[in-house]
Amino acid sequence: MSKLFQNAFFGQRVLGLLLVGVISALLAVAARAATVERQPPNFVIIFADDLGYGDLGCYGHPTIRTPRLDRMAREGMRFTQFYSAACVCTPSRAALLTGRLPIRSGMCHDRYRVLRATATGGIPADEVLLPELLRTRGYVCACIGKWHLGSVPEYLPLRHGFDRFFGLPYSNDMGHINAWGKTNQAAIRRGIPPLPLYDNLRVVETEPDQRTLTRRYTEKSIEFIRQAVAAGKPFFLYLPHSFPHVPLFADPEFAGKSRRGLYGDVVRAIDWSTGVILDTLHQLGVADNTLVFFTSDNGPWLNKREHGGSAGLLRDGKGSTWEGGMREPGIAWWPGHVPAGVTTAALGCTMDLFVTCAVMAGASVPTDRVIDGYDLSPVLLRNEASPRKEMFFYRGTRLMAVRLGPWKAHFKTQAAYGQREPQSHDPPLLYHLEHDPSERFDVAKEHPKIVAEIKALVQRHQSELKPAPSRLE
Ligand code: MG
Repeated sequence: MSKLFQNAFFGQRVLGLLLVGVISALLAVAARAATVERQPPNFVIIFADDLGYGDLGCYGHPTIRTPRLDRMAREGMRFTQFYSAACVCTPSRAALLTGRLPIRSGMCHDRYRVLRATATGGIPADEVLLPELLRTRGYVCACIGKWHLGSVPEYLPLRHGFDRFFGLPYSNDMGHINAWGKTNQAAIRRGIPPLPLYDNLRVVETEPDQRTLTRRYTEKSIEFIRQAVAAGKPFFLYLPHSFPHVPLFADPEFAGKSRRGLYGDVVRAIDWSTGVILDTLHQLGVADNTLVFFTSDNGPWLNKREHGGSAGLLRDGKGSTWEGGMREPGIAWWPGHVPAGVTTAALGCTMDLFVTCAVMAGASVPTDRVIDGYDLSPVLLRNEASPRKEMFFYRGTRLMAVRLGPWKAHFKTQAAYGQREPQSHDPPLLYHLEHDPSERFDVAKEHPKIVAEIKALVQRHQSELKPAPSRLE
């Protein structure tokens, strides 16, 4: 009897211990889930300037060596149909940070095309920028590099959601050094200010030694990441490099090394910088909680001859709405989350990064305005089909071409530089981009139904479009 009692007592104890074990395991899982929920992923967007589709080793360049970007692609996902939202700097950056076509924010202009050094306009206060959204989720946000969304104080990054800014307010050829790296006497005579280098809201140098820029951007980026991690805060690092926009200046460590010449040296420094940032994320133990995306603001500046890059097999470059002007390298990296070694032909656009980051951070995407981006999570996390089926190709305020699935119709074409007015096409020129990525064979006559479908899409787009007055005057 007592033995039976003892056994029952023992059984109850075992059961009790088991229950305690199960409950504490459940609590641990719940606590971990809560931690994960409290700490959304970090984001790093590395944005090259005027880098072409064909300028990286992993995109087929024969002599530019980019070992770190190639490795990033092997460890992550490489897009072959990823677009910037515009073919020149200012509108492209506005679209990335607002998730909206520049025509909606007024950050485009048919004559000026980008903000000039003396312009007094900039990104409107009522636009919601990605760092402003992420802030609502506790993120710290830095812009390290070239801004180009307004250079008077009210338009600087610290007024638009960023906690930290180090870099240039606009392009590196807009001070006293011209595109070829020589003193620009005309700019000095016209009273253009010397190129300012900002630390937050203060100009700390003018006409900085441009050979040091990529290295300094990298150092400031690492400093920011370290501080954010030490503070236990999720972070967004926006790193818009000043290069390979002309004038080209190579860091002494890379100068004279590339078989592609100075342009190759400059791209090599950006490759090095990317590697250092990925290494830092690993060292700090946050690589598995950080999405890094590498792309470029627009295609190569072809009229800069050997100082301009290459769009590879794509037609034309910066300033044009042919593919070379807007299709870019796009590499996503997030160990354990973005599948490794994947090359995807899914459509994507810089405006999608706005929505994707907001969704991943648990921030709400604005519903009081049209957002042109899509959530690319299905592509990035599961290698599924892209929600993006179309692309609108604007030049300034003019809709030039539209992509729908594999088809692209050009309603207007215009040389990147030197042609004052566009040439209209009715019927539009039609290319099947997946068969003919170089846009060589117009097949509009053979596909009237596709042309009609794209025309209907244009009508829908234009019927809801409310163009904002230009801010680039
Ligand atoms: Mg650019």
